[in-house]
Amino acid sequence: MGENFAFFLPVMMASFSIAFLILYSRGMPVAGWWSAGYFCVAGGFTIPAAYAAVPTPLWSLLADILFATGFLFFGEALLQRWRPFWLLPARIAIWALSWLLCAAAMATDNLPMELTASDFGCFLLIALPLIAARGRLTSGADRTLFAAAVLVALDNLVRGSTVQLTLAQDVNYLVSDYAFLTQALACIFGMFMALAALATHVLDLLARYERDAMVDPLSGLLNRRGFDDAVAQLGTDARSGSLIVCDIDHFKAVNDEYGHALGDRVIVALARMLEDGTPDMAVTARFGGEEFVLFLPCTDAACAAAIANDVRESFTREIGSTLPLTRSLTASFGLSTVQRADTSIHDTIARADEALYQAKSRGRNRVCVRRALSSPQFTSTASTPAIIGT
Ligand code: GH3
Ligand code: MG
Ligand code: MG
Repeated sequence: MGENFAFFLPVMMASFSIAFLILYSRGMPVAGWWSAGYFCVAGGFTIPAAYAAVPTPLWSLLADILFATGFLFFGEALLQRWRPFWLLPARIAIWALSWLLCAAAMATDNLPMELTASDFGCFLLIALPLIAARGRLTSGADRTLFAAAVLVALDNLVRGSTVQLTLAQDVNYLVSDYAFLTQALACIFGMFMALAALATHVLDLLARYERDAMVDPLSGLLNRRGFDDAVAQLGTDARSGSLIVCDIDHFKAVNDEYGHALGDRVIVALARMLEDGTPDMAVTARFGGEEFVLFLPCTDAACAAAIANDVRESFTREIGSTLPLTRSLTASFGLSTVQRADTSIHDTIARADEALYQAKSRGRNRVCVRRALSSPQFTSTASTPAIIGT
């Protein structure tokens, strides 16, 4: 039965190596460490076949080096999640010492020493990262990966500690029950660790795609979908509050005069001002072009209008010094509060949009407020900074 595993193990490890390589190519750098680790271990498990073809004791040393290197990579793959490159020189020293001891053991024909050095080297290389993980396991996937790595570490520790038992077997080791048991455990634990690591990567990838689908790449603010999601997550806090829409004035002219790239920088600058100028609880989004939407939960119209007016003033004041613009730039704001009759935040957005339209038609560079489906309540402009009724 041991011979079956001798064939199965390299194929399985190589398959995991390829799976991680695919994840690596999808922009997941940590998967590269896993891929390299499983590639080395697959190589190590292939050695018996190579030995059958070309019998030379050097294969054994190569296997020891491949296993030690594989476990060095596994250790780094784990540490990349928890504490990248922690104790790297010490771990490289363990790696080198492990296979140098194997080489010395081979030179003196000391098989127990070779097996012990190899297994204990692998044990230390994967056990050290587990110490670094203390207090850093934040998700269920992380804890599962940690548990799998503990099993792999223990497997190596037990194997290294029972070398004498291995060698005391009268029968051929390769076909012994003991060989079957150790290979079966190595197979199960190695597979468990690979699946746990794959699961953490797939979950990370899904989280990244989900985040990308919710975030506007230019400004880093939420996009329309992200805004809807964030407001939905507010629950009952979304039942009261103010909504602001903001649009840069005559932005087409900025693009025409200074080019699209500088236009982009204006958008990013305003996004930062909106983020910095609003409370942490605000949900800030770019809905497209140079149009932004902000929801301020549990904030009344007067307070929200003051916030909008501050951003409007700082945009006009600071954008010229931030970017190489020779003309002054302004933005208009529309504001509305959530009403009891609103069926969704989009009803509030529609009213704020009407207020924005009013701000544009009344000369731009101002904040217009609309509380309900009536005419705008008041405006604030550069020339009349106080909020006034209309
Ligand atoms: P108004 O004062 O009435 O808002 O005039 P405006 O010129 O700003 O008019 P409008 O809002 O219709 O113009 C939006 C322009 O924004 C049109 C488009 O060229 C530009 N735009 C849309 N998306 C982007 C973008 O991602 N980057 C840049 N640089 N420009 C964009
Ligand atoms: Mg505009
Ligand atoms: Mg616009």
